[in-house]
Amino acid sequence: MDYKNITVAGSGVLGSQIAYQTAYKGFNVSVFDINDEAIEIAKDRIQKLKARYQEDLGATQEEVDNAYNRMNFYSDLSKAVSSADLLIEAVPEVVDIKMDFYKKLAQVAPNHTIFATNSSTLLPSQFAEATGRPDKFLALHFANEIWNNNTAEIMKHPGTDEKVFQDIIEFAKAIGMVALPLYKEQPGYILNSLLVPFLEAGQKLLVNGIADVETIDKTWMIATGAPQGPFAILDVVGIRTAYNITVAKVKATGDEEFQRMADFLKTEYIDKGKLGIETGEGFYKY
Ligand code: NAD
Repeated sequence: MDYKNITVAGSGVLGSQIAYQTAYKGFNVSVFDINDEAIEIAKDRIQKLKARYQEDLGATQEEVDNAYNRMNFYSDLSKAVSSADLLIEAVPEVVDIKMDFYKKLAQVAPNHTIFATNSSTLLPSQFAEATGRPDKFLALHFANEIWNNNTAEIMKHPGTDEKVFQDIIEFAKAIGMVALPLYKEQPGYILNSLLVPFLEAGQKLLVNGIADVETIDKTWMIATGAPQGPFAILDVVGIRTAYNITVAKVKATGDEEFQRMADFLKTEYIDKGKLGIETGEGFYKY
């Protein structure tokens, strides 16, 4: 892996974190977003990250300033990508936006540039053809608050070159991540493949009247030694997100049990403003 210049496209919640973390670890970073207004928002967002790095990681003022000084900002894609060894895409989770982005990127990126998507729910094979370089394309998926929650799930699609896969594993380590390779495509990667069914199982026990919130969590915690049960985790994830996932399941399956879960989350929690830790109350009070 001999990457030096990294471009991050989309500088929202995750893009700004990926860009700053990469610069913090010594790479030259170009940030691309759609217009100057979005770029100004990104600069502000990234300036605010400096304090988090100082508080959470004990970074010095010099370190956080040096990281920022390794970043350049562009609203012109061809300039943003002109010297990129790797482009990490963090544009909105909307198929048409990503598809359109890759078609434009394919026209202006140097031949050697590797493309990686940070998509949480879409599979890379869906965009492989649009990239014009399926062998140099894969998924590199980060978690929110990347400097603390430093997982990087690295997922191939069937056409990804093995060397590219190995290089991205090395790159993820070089920017301070714990690299988690997936050899095949999997919706939800590893984390959500485990977590979503677990959280659903807890909710089913509750809506079917089998046991209450505290008992379900206590059972899991005492029996496995885990620090949290499903409902404490749901409060961290946010009940709106849990509701959106459940509604998507209802649409996909028409399942009556999921429908009851969705109704329950809406009437008992969302409509009452109990959205989890972010509002001070969800399944528990904070
Ligand atoms: P966001 O809405 O905060 O940011 C998206 C950014 O993309 C905005 O700055 C927007 O101006 C920009 N954008 C819009 N259209 C664009 C285009 N055509 N070209 C370039 N930039 C464009 O979204 P986010 O939460 O940062 O999510 C981005 C990606 O990261 C998604 O694929 C999402 O699944 C993934 N992700 C998000 C999280 C999370 O917790 N938010 C976690 C892991 C992965």
